[in-house]
Amino acid sequence: MNLPHNYEMVIGLEVHAQVNTQSKLFSGAATAFGAEPNTQACAIDLAMPGMLPVLNHAAVDAGIKLGLAIEATVNPVSVFARKNYFYPDLPKGYQTSQYDQPIVEHGKLEIEVEPKDGEPYSKVVNITRMHLEEDAGKSIHADHANVSYVDLNRAGVPLMEIVSEPEIASPEEAGAYMKKMRALVRFLDICDGDMEKGNLRCDANVSVRKKGIKEFGTRCEIKNLNSIRHVMAAIQHEAERQVEVLEAGGSIDQQTRLWDPDKQETRTLRSKEDAHDYRYFPCPDLLPLRLSEERIAKVRATMPKLPDVLKTELMDAGLPAYDAGLISGDRAYVAYFAELSQGRDIKLAANWMTVELFGALNKLDKGLEDSPVSAAQLGGLVDLIASGKISGKIAKQVFATMLESGKDAAAIVAEQGLGQISDEGALREIVAKVVAAMPDAVAKYKGGNERVFGSFVGAVMKETKGQANPEMVNRLIKEAVASR
Ligand code: ADP
Ligand code: MG
Repeated sequence: MNLPHNYEMVIGLEVHAQVNTQSKLFSGAATAFGAEPNTQACAIDLAMPGMLPVLNHAAVDAGIKLGLAIEATVNPVSVFARKNYFYPDLPKGYQTSQYDQPIVEHGKLEIEVEPKDGEPYSKVVNITRMHLEEDAGKSIHADHANVSYVDLNRAGVPLMEIVSEPEIASPEEAGAYMKKMRALVRFLDICDGDMEKGNLRCDANVSVRKKGIKEFGTRCEIKNLNSIRHVMAAIQHEAERQVEVLEAGGSIDQQTRLWDPDKQETRTLRSKEDAHDYRYFPCPDLLPLRLSEERIAKVRATMPKLPDVLKTELMDAGLPAYDAGLISGDRAYVAYFAELSQGRDIKLAANWMTVELFGALNKLDKGLEDSPVSAAQLGGLVDLIASGKISGKIAKQVFATMLESGKDAAAIVAEQGLGQISDEGALREIVAKVVAAMPDAVAKYKGGNERVFGSFVGAVMKETKGQANPEMVNRLIKEAVASR
């Protein structure tokens, strides 16, 4: 079901991105994923009395990077605050977070949206703020009927909480936002961006209102969204639920809800808490975080050229938007393409990388970093095509052998005798023979049926096992037909 046409969705996303530092936000304990439970929690993470937090400046630098990348204000002073609540996976009884003075404010992210029906478009989503905070531990309820376990390895892992303005208007826009954010934190190498492992998580705030009405409706916040697909499905179902309630004359309770992917529904977890429920106050154990302009400039100097800038450069160099977006969105792609396209036809290079190579890697279930064909090797293949030594068709055959053998293109062409026939005299003879054997087609062609031209080309290619230089073939066929 879609929403009735007189309703619209209002969505704000809170993304939690675990910073990929070696150690925790306020302690030296390790953060590696998948370790034995409670082997990576030290006295600070366990909230032993008298322990004092020490801020991890690598996590702060990551926050600065994100702030700069989303063109936000990186505040010269920000303040860590205690957010008080009780839960077994939070031994301190409060989460150290930031509240009214976050490290980053007023950013933006441009997203590319592909709606279900309609043309793709881009849109800027404003980002209210990003603050640094620590992750909580994990409570494990599964498998044991009467016991719950607590694993504190995750307690204290640095998180960036990135809060969007309520400007997202559809599940597709929410999906595009998540994709862009994930690509960005990966590109900056500040978060692994792996939603399955929970190092990138999303809470979706959803409300609906009748079109034309300015005020927001009451929102619900949906937790437990661990893939982009779930984010999109949960938003759609939650919006539909809210419309149903309203249309039946009811009203929406402000709630925190959980997404159940098996049942494809959201359900109540608790009525939503407000900020004042947490009794926030500045953490007396931590000084305000002061960032000098020099420090911010130093971080800026370590940052790579960003995807949006690279995309524009690639488009200016002649690539279609799709290819430019794909290549610029991932640092490994950017590096590969830089080497591949150096001194070569950029469109031909992009085409071989995004269509042939990515297609093959997809089938092999491999990432670019495990590609059996290096950028230099693919470049060698592109050179053979560009210089006319092999046709595009033969190139595909050579490429398949490259994938299997890891050999260079030129070596394969030499070994298998695949060089393109560009010997004009030899080709002219073959063309003459082919055309002479097809008098009906010649008559049709001369009678104005241009489509039969393809059958001459096909016959010549068959005769030459696809190795004839296509441009030369076209020219020679025209000459041969005209002379008959
Ligand atoms: P909280 O602290 O309770 O999480 P915030 O005011 O920080 O609340 O907002 C959290 C998120 O909810 C933000 O992304 C914001 O854009 C979004 N939001 C706020 N009001 C609405 C609304 N009426 N409908 C949908 N999203 C909303
Ligand atoms: Mg919230």
